[in-house]
Amino acid sequence: MKTFEQFDVIVIGGGPSGMMCAGRAAELGARVLLLEKNATLGNKLLLTGGGRCNITNAIFDTNAFLNNFPEAKKYLHSPFAQFGVQDTFDFFSAHNLPLVVEARNRAFPQTQHAQDVLNVMTNYMRKGKVTIRMNTRIISLHREAQKIVSLRDQNNVEYRANKFVIATGGLAAPETGSTGDGVTFLDTLGHTTQKSNPNLVPLKTNAKWIHNLSGISWSFMKIRFVQEEKTRLRKTGKILFTHFGISGPLIINSAFEVKKLLEKGPVDAVIDLFPDTEEAELDRKILNLLTRLGDKKMKNVLPEMIFKKIALEILDLPLLQLSEKFAKNITREERKNLVHTLKNLTFPITGTCGMDKAIVADGGVKLSEVDFTTMTSRLYPNLYILGDVLNINRPSGGFSLQLCWTTGFVAGTHIGTTL
Ligand SMILES: Cc1cc2nc3c(=O)[nH]c(=O)nc-3n(C[C@H](O)[C@H](O)[C@H](O)COP(=O)(O)OP(=O)(O)OC[C@H]3O[C@@H](n4cnc5c(N)ncnc54)[C@H](O)[C@@H]3O)c2cc1C
Repeated sequence: MKTFEQFDVIVIGGGPSGMMCAGRAAELGARVLLLEKNATLGNKLLLTGGGRCNITNAIFDTNAFLNNFPEAKKYLHSPFAQFGVQDTFDFFSAHNLPLVVEARNRAFPQTQHAQDVLNVMTNYMRKGKVTIRMNTRIISLHREAQKIVSLRDQNNVEYRANKFVIATGGLAAPETGSTGDGVTFLDTLGHTTQKSNPNLVPLKTNAKWIHNLSGISWSFMKIRFVQEEKTRLRKTGKILFTHFGISGPLIINSAFEVKKLLEKGPVDAVIDLFPDTEEAELDRKILNLLTRLGDKKMKNVLPEMIFKKIALEILDLPLLQLSEKFAKNITREERKNLVHTLKNLTFPITGTCGMDKAIVADGGVKLSEVDFTTMTSRLYPNLYILGDVLNINRPSGGFSLQLCWTTGFVAGTHIGTTL
């Protein structure tokens, strides 16, 4: 068996949290080895924000920022006091990548390229002379009493160090390399871990006509999720139709609650296409339209009000069947039905998408088993646990990456100051 040279610390995983930790520890003088199973670093980071990287959320008041982590808030005060949102802005700015803030406080690099974020992180590590070994998949951690002493990779190479960092990510988007290995290691070492489920994820429907709307996105829609004829959840915002259902930030942020409802029974989504118009007023508008365009077929009339693709799918719904009818021949009852449908477009939600389409999966190590002042394991004081390996629920909007910058920096600082 080959043994690799001794390092102060070995970081497993070249995602945002691992790279931040490695760079910071090296900056403070630690000899750092980073091991990554892929051939390239930061594969998931490059996908973030649709390739633009929503790097953080610009809520500078830490208490207000942490309100987005209701279950984990009490653990996060200490690490965020050490490295918060303002520090993220300052860090990237100091590395010549200023951030800009967009709608809903989402912050992006001014250049709008996730690749530039990755470049900052790789340069940070290069400056500190971090040794990086790619194509190295760690398969086991070895301990002596309450201390981790070594790792083994897929070729049975052994790695020894004083400290070890698990930054292997969660289970969302496993094709990027995050296959949940860290959680398995921690489980084996005696930590309590929670099973992973896709959390921030699109919703599926079996309604073919919704699939046909794939590619359309519509802002300021109201959507309700209904179970047993009662509205259980209500949201307003942009909805993106896909070939399997509905997506967009509004939807993926509702997925966790919808998933819980689905465990109890069937759920319908009900979309209001005209949330700012009362049903009676919409009826008047449609009546005017039908009068004005009476000699036209409905398939040429309704697209005057809504996207043609949506208009045609709605007119062909079994309940309506109005496409080929002339506007002047629409009965009062048919018109009322149409208006009601536009305000209550209903289709079943058949499930949430799987890990492959997830932005964030929950699960991971139990938070009370981590010392958040240093990001060390409470069972193994020379083991650090970062980023998506922690069981922290959060919304989309840059909150996940901020957790990585914060936990990575805090661990790196502790490693570098306790050599
Ligand atoms: C499509 C998509 C878009 C997203 N957009 C955003 C966004 O805009 N803003 C935001 O805040 N969050 C976003 N997220 C979430 C964010 O990407 C993650 O929270 C973040 O990448 C987690 O970082 P990490 O360092 O914990 O782990 P990861 O980024 O998952 O990195 C873990 C690394 O460890 C490596 N690894 C795993 N196991 C081993 C092993 N056994 N040995 C060696 N290496 C191993 C993996 O190959 C991987 O490179 C998005 C996620 C997805 C999937």
